[in-house]
Amino acid sequence: VALDTGRVIGAEVLLRWNDSELGSVEPSRFIPVAEESGMIVPLGDWVLAQAMALLAEWQRDGLDHLRLAVNLSARQFSGGALLERLDQLVARYGIDPARLELEITETAAMRDPENTRELLRELRTRGFKLAIDDFGTGYSSLAYLKLFAIDRIKIDRGFVKDIEHNPNDAVIVAATIGLAHALGLAVVAEGVETQAQWGFLRDKLGDEAQGYLFARPMPASEFREFIRRPAQPVPGA
Ligand code: MN
Repeated sequence: VALDTGRVIGAEVLLRWNDSELGSVEPSRFIPVAEESGMIVPLGDWVLAQAMALLAEWQRDGLDHLRLAVNLSARQFSGGALLERLDQLVARYGIDPARLELEITETAAMRDPENTRELLRELRTRGFKLAIDDFGTGYSSLAYLKLFAIDRIKIDRGFVKDIEHNPNDAVIVAATIGLAHALGLAVVAEGVETQAQWGFLRDKLGDEAQGYLFARPMPASEFREFIRRPAQPVPGA
C-alpha cells in the first residue's frame, strides 16, 4: 500500500501448502526442508512461473499498474540458471518485467557480493525490479548497498513492530528511510499492523507498507476482490 494515498500498489507472493493428509503445513516447516534438500530450486521455479502467469492475467484484465513481488532463495539466486529461466518465462507469458519485483535477503546478497552485483545488473538490464528483503536483520555492508543495482529496501518487521514505543527502533527506521532515499532507493515497511505505525512511517516519508493492517495473506482469486475495495483512510489526512 502506498503510504500517502492508502492505495494498493501490489502484492507479495507467499507460499502455502494445503496437504490432504497433513492439512495446512506452515512455510516455517516446509521451506527449511526444501532449502536443505535442494527442492527449493524446482519449488522456486514453479513459484516464478505461477507469478508470471498471474501477472499476465492482471495485464490482460487492465490491472497492469500492480506490482508482484517474489522471494528468491539464496540457492536460486546463486545457482546460475536464474537469468535463463526468467528469460524463458517472460517470453512465454509476455509480461512486463517492470511489474515483477525480485526480493533477496541481505545474507543471500552478501554471500558472494561480486556475483550478486553482476547478477543484479543483468536483472536490471532486463527491466526487473529488485528489492533487498528483511533489511536490517542479516549481515550487510552499506558499501555494497550503493553498488547493488536495487530499487527498494524492505525494512524488517522486527524494527516496525515497536516503532511507537521503542525509541531505538524509531530512530533506526527513520535513519534507514533517510539513507535509502539518499541512495535513490524506495522503502517498504514490513509487518505494519496499526494506524499509528502507518502514521509514523508516513511522517518519516516512507514510501510503502505491507502488513496485517491492510490485509492478511489471501488467495490470488480473493486479491482481485480486495483491490476493488476503497482505499483505507490515510492517518492524519
Ligand atoms: Mn519478502
